[in-house]
Amino acid sequence: MPTLTNPSEIARETFRLLAQRRIPPTPDNFRALYMEVSGDAGSGEGFPDKTLRSLADGLPKDTPDQQRLARELEQALRGADWNAYRGTLLNFVTTLSATQRLAWGKLIGELIRRLESRHGAMSSTRKRESLDHVLESASNPDTLFNRLQGLLRSWRQAEGEPSANAAVEVADNLAEEEAFETVPDTQASPATVPAVPKAGSEALLSELRDIFAFTLESAIAPQIRESAQLTEEARGLARDIRATATPADLEQFSGRLKHFARQLEVLAEDQSDLHQGLLKLVQLLLENVGGMVEDDHWLQGQIEVLRAIVEQPLSIRIIEDAERRLKEVIFKQSQLEVGLVEAKDALKNMLAGFVDQLAEFSDATSDYHDKIESCADRISTAQDVREIGSVLSEVMQETRAMQESAQHSRDELRQTQERVRTSEERIRQLESELEITSDLVRYDQLTGALNRRGMEEMLQKEVGRAERHESQLCIGLLDIDDFKRINDSLGHDAGDDALIHLAKLCRATLRPQDTVARYGGEEFVVLLPETGLEDATTALVRLQRELTKHFFLHDNQKVLITFSAGVTRFHAGEPQANAVKRADTAMYQAKQSGKNRVVSVE
Ligand code: GH3
Ligand code: MG
Ligand code: MG
Repeated sequence: MPTLTNPSEIARETFRLLAQRRIPPTPDNFRALYMEVSGDAGSGEGFPDKTLRSLADGLPKDTPDQQRLARELEQALRGADWNAYRGTLLNFVTTLSATQRLAWGKLIGELIRRLESRHGAMSSTRKRESLDHVLESASNPDTLFNRLQGLLRSWRQAEGEPSANAAVEVADNLAEEEAFETVPDTQASPATVPAVPKAGSEALLSELRDIFAFTLESAIAPQIRESAQLTEEARGLARDIRATATPADLEQFSGRLKHFARQLEVLAEDQSDLHQGLLKLVQLLLENVGGMVEDDHWLQGQIEVLRAIVEQPLSIRIIEDAERRLKEVIFKQSQLEVGLVEAKDALKNMLAGFVDQLAEFSDATSDYHDKIESCADRISTAQDVREIGSVLSEVMQETRAMQESAQHSRDELRQTQERVRTSEERIRQLESELEITSDLVRYDQLTGALNRRGMEEMLQKEVGRAERHESQLCIGLLDIDDFKRINDSLGHDAGDDALIHLAKLCRATLRPQDTVARYGGEEFVVLLPETGLEDATTALVRLQRELTKHFFLHDNQKVLITFSAGVTRFHAGEPQANAVKRADTAMYQAKQSGKNRVVSVE
């Protein structure tokens, strides 16, 4: 049979076949036979179930709402409830059109435009990172749309645009914009923050991250150049804050940040100490320049000290050291000045008195000569003994007066001489007092190391510093072995030179921030800041090795000096004397166990 194409012919043939085959004329039977006649039997199979099912399968199921509608369609299909199917389908189309109303085109257009723009504080890389983050985190198109909008809003703000105006660019009108905002974030539980603020805060957070990293790199790091470690830390933090993605990352970062802030605080305290110290130093110098201009030597000396300080990298220890030295110089000078002025006055008075006395004396003597001469004349012309007698008594009187005047002059000269001698004595006494007992003297005159008083002051400072920095501080106590024998065999002066040699070697071997002090006779203390017990012990053993390499030379003879040492570390909060005592006990153990060794104790 030829294939019919005309629908009315197909329908007529269908009715004929229904009658011929005695098939009841139901719609299904009619449809099946119609398809057969028209030659389209396969495609019509299962109509409408299959067609409607494939239609339902093709609909999006991204949101829970869409999934719910898909389930309803499936149910309607299974029950062949075409009315329910129709209702559900209409519902589906309405919901979908609401979503489609979102201006995706405009949104994407603006995203691309702003992503590439170099304008504003946010880099393209940073924008791409936040965009990736939003793309990954959004669970459905509505949420994604809302979050992308929030992201754009934050970009606009970063680029200095008011968000209200810019909002118009994306939305066709305000009503539409409101529709976007009210699309529910169906993934969010009722208690969670709505989608838009969440996307906004996400973008805001990333912007804050950027600003913070920028602050660390460009504002903080250059301010703390003097601490290489902290500068590196600031740069590292800036790098890492950019890479934080999860709350766990942020939490870890915030821990590091707190530590960094604490270190910054300590550094700021140190800097403040440093500035204060510098200021005091300059003030001291200025105060004294006036009094020193007459004496170039002093002035040059002080300026030399200052120049030496300024030439080396400044540290609070160097400034403190310079201040102490300068104070001593100034104090000594002021004390000696008083004595010197007194001595000069006395000398001046003595010379003036001497000249006066000489003048008086010569006046008196010429007077005396004149008188004696006239007496001699009168004697030669005298007529009788009585006359001679009265002239002689006059001569006697003049001679006695002359003698008295000479005596007086000699007494006065003697007194002035005595005053000069007393002044000189006072100057000498002052000098030696200043050197030995003055409260301001902190340096040992023999070795130039700090003396006991200087050491105690330094100890207090270092303990304070260690507590502030939460760093370790160690103390070592050194005692020269068999020093008495050196004195006895080579002489006391050689002993002195040996002490100078050891002090010099200590300074050369230990670090600049370590302190060397002469604690007493042939005992020295070393303070080792920012050093653990093991390193402190190693430092002292190294010093022992240096002593075997750099011999003490006496009359061109090599003399080996050794020492025994005890070393310990300061425990936070303990009295300083406890640590000194521990080091002393450890030193004693070193002596007991054969000398020339270092014993460490916690
Ligand atoms: P040990 O190994 O047990 O420490 O024995 P030692 O001989 O070193 O110790 P001792 O305490 O018996 O002797 C220390 C000597 O140091 C005694 C003292 O005369 C001498 N001394 C102290 N101060 C000075 C000084 O300034 N110059 C000199 N030349 N000797 C000093
Ligand atoms: Mg001793
Ligand atoms: Mg000794």
